Amino acid sequence: MNIETIAIHAGAQIDPTTGAVMPPLHLSTTFQRSADGTYPHGYTYIRSENPTRQALENTLCALEGGKCASAFASGMAAIMSVFQALRPGDHAIMPDDIYFGTRKMVDELFAPWGLAYTQVDMTNLDAVRAAVRPATKLIWIETPSNPLLKITDVAAVAEIAHAAGAICACDATWPTPILQRTLELGADLAVHATTKYLGGHSDLLGGAVIAREHDEFFHRIQTIQKAGGAVPSPFDCWLLLRGIRTLPYRMRGHCANAMKLARYLQQHPKVCQVHYPGLEEHPGHEIAKRQMSDFGGMLSFQLCPDELHTGKQNAQALAGRTKLFTQATSLGGVESLIEHRATVEGPNTKTPDNLLRVSVGLEHIDDLIADLEEAMSAPVQLTT
Ligand SMILES: *Cc1c(COP(=O)(O)O)cnc(C)c1O
Repeated sequence: MNIETIAIHAGAQIDPTTGAVMPPLHLSTTFQRSADGTYPHGYTYIRSENPTRQALENTLCALEGGKCASAFASGMAAIMSVFQALRPGDHAIMPDDIYFGTRKMVDELFAPWGLAYTQVDMTNLDAVRAAVRPATKLIWIETPSNPLLKITDVAAVAEIAHAAGAICACDATWPTPILQRTLELGADLAVHATTKYLGGHSDLLGGAVIAREHDEFFHRIQTIQKAGGAVPSPFDCWLLLRGIRTLPYRMRGHCANAMKLARYLQQHPKVCQVHYPGLEEHPGHEIAKRQMSDFGGMLSFQLCPDELHTGKQNAQALAGRTKLFTQATSLGGVESLIEHRATVEGPNTKTPDNLLRVSVGLEHIDDLIADLEEAMSAPVQLTT
């Protein structure tokens, strides 16, 4: 079946007790045992399993083309489960521009706990190979990267991981299962912050790990999910199921708008650089064309300095002046967002200070361009 059909029908059976066409929201924390003490429906207690969460996990699994899925209370809880499934003494390889929340978590929680790690430029396969050690158990990919939209060759890195006897996991939040077939490319685990595109409406927090095989490593992830209980509430599962139904069509709109916006920004005299893998000039364009079906709804761009202001001043002024683009963090919702990334990431960030990251929403592209045009043509007023 095609992905549009899977998104609508996976995990959605007509409710046998009522005939409800859409899945019910099950809030019960506990489930009745039979006279003989067994659980006739397979559900025991909400932390271990819940019918709404089960429907979500079935849908996620079908959507990503995996064998099994675990849903988590946040993207970070999903990411954490993968690192927790490692053991002290293990070594992980991660991109040097990994999502800053992941780097902070590994640095502050897993390094003291005994995990060694190396950060490399994942677009350089020789650097990935050179970082492999006998103890390497995990190679973590994130593509397109945040916020420079660097593209990692998933198939090539998965091959390096497997040759080293390591697991390859990919944070595929940005491409979603619609634009990138992460598991088919060779990754063992696809990890998502479902808070973003899968939810799609900026009103829920969630994460997921989907596995190519139900192996010992995934079993550990499941144990972490059920034992720790960092699971999404039934209502968040239900909202997420609702969001996923329209994901394939939303992604088309995000991609079409982002491509047009990238071209508009590229020709703008106040913009020095646009980072969008759909542009032929982008260093990852060829790989993106091969491993993605479209180029996504995220882009970033850098503002030039002028006689009076630095690029940073111009960038911050622009982010404060747009009307349709809300100045806020996060991404993947129907609404457009703009963000000065360096100030979110703090003093140790490597993100250029004249860079703005945009989550391109589903408004009409002409209105989005008009909003940026107006904001960029106004004189910059400095508050300090
Ligand atoms: C947002 C995000 C996360 C974290 O997800 P939360 O749901 O906020 O915990 C991880 N990776 C990427 C790429 C993200 O964009």
